[in-house]
Amino acid sequence: MSEEQKNTLEHYLTPEVQERIEYSFLQLQNACHSNAVDKGFWEEDQAVVEVLKSAPRVDAATLAAKAQENITSTKLMLIVSESAEALEGLRQGNPPSDKLHEWGHTQLEEELADIVVRVLDLSGFLGFNLIKAILRKMAVNAKRPYKHGKKF
Ligand SMILES: [Mg+2]
Repeated sequence: MSEEQKNTLEHYLTPEVQERIEYSFLQLQNACHSNAVDKGFWEEDQAVVEVLKSAPRVDAATLAAKAQENITSTKLMLIVSESAEALEGLRQGNPPSDKLHEWGHTQLEEELADIVVRVLDLSGFLGFNLIKAILRKMAVNAKRPYKHGKKF
């Protein structure tokens, strides 16, 4: 296999596997967001967007976009908070997870899962096709040289 072939996403994932991943990942993203909606985590945020759309003095689209930015910012910080929980787990020796210990998972695993669930939930809210972006970014990364000028 040539070096050029190794610098492709197809070296790591065949097109058929990519297609299956895309389908399954989108289902997972929709499930994460739908569950968060069903559990009420988007109720107030969606209400704010709806109220702002009908605000009389300022351009409704501008207000709705601003609300979406603020909501997204909050959700991004919640993703950071899950990272902090993961770090705290490591500082404590990565003990068994509080909620997943019966399956043998550690706190680090639980917090990494929380990060992914929150990322997928936010992606669902924003209407992103995150798996497409991931696969395209992986294709870019596959073309990069070794450590591409970075120390770590
Ligand atoms: Mg957590």
